[in-house]
Amino acid sequence: MCHQASSTVQYNTECDEAQAWARSKVHMAMAQISALTCVRFEPAQTFNTDFLAITSAEDGCWSYVGKIGGRQALNLGNGCISAPVAVHEIIHALGFGHEQSRPDRDKYISFKDEATALNYDKDTVFFVTGFPYDFASAMHYGANGEMFPRDPAVKSLGAGPNSKNTLLSGIDAAKINTLYGCDCP
Ligand SMILES: [Zn+2]
Repeated sequence: MCHQASSTVQYNTECDEAQAWARSKVHMAMAQISALTCVRFEPAQTFNTDFLAITSAEDGCWSYVGKIGGRQALNLGNGCISAPVAVHEIIHALGFGHEQSRPDRDKYISFKDEATALNYDKDTVFFVTGFPYDFASAMHYGANGEMFPRDPAVKSLGAGPNSKNTLLSGIDAAKINTLYGCDCP
């Protein structure tokens, strides 16, 4: 069954207006998502009531998961203004959780200890089924000394902040295309 979801996201960049480079990172992130999926981004008009407000007003890198509506903040605080971080947070806003939170993640990664594992809640809502576990996902945390791949052949975790050119994986793109019905005729 094919269901074409609305795939245009209106946004405002409210990053420090003096920092054109910050906006350029956000635009780079959007361009890569659009190049690989049917999701498009366009600047919000005054009549748009729902839009993504990309801001640096608060600390940290964060986004809501999925569409909340209204002026929906996505924060790129100090140290968060890079294309890979922007890709990660925008994909949250598109409705995706972390790859390492998939319900079947224990088959693929282990944690330093039980207490650490509890900090990485499993998530049964914000993921798309039917795709292989993706160590290269922009939504997988990188190596942080707390989680480890079970397969010793897997050398790295996460496509995000450690990547140079590729910001989202092919599987990330395929999942977005599935959720947004991009392959509808
Ligand atoms: Zn995240």
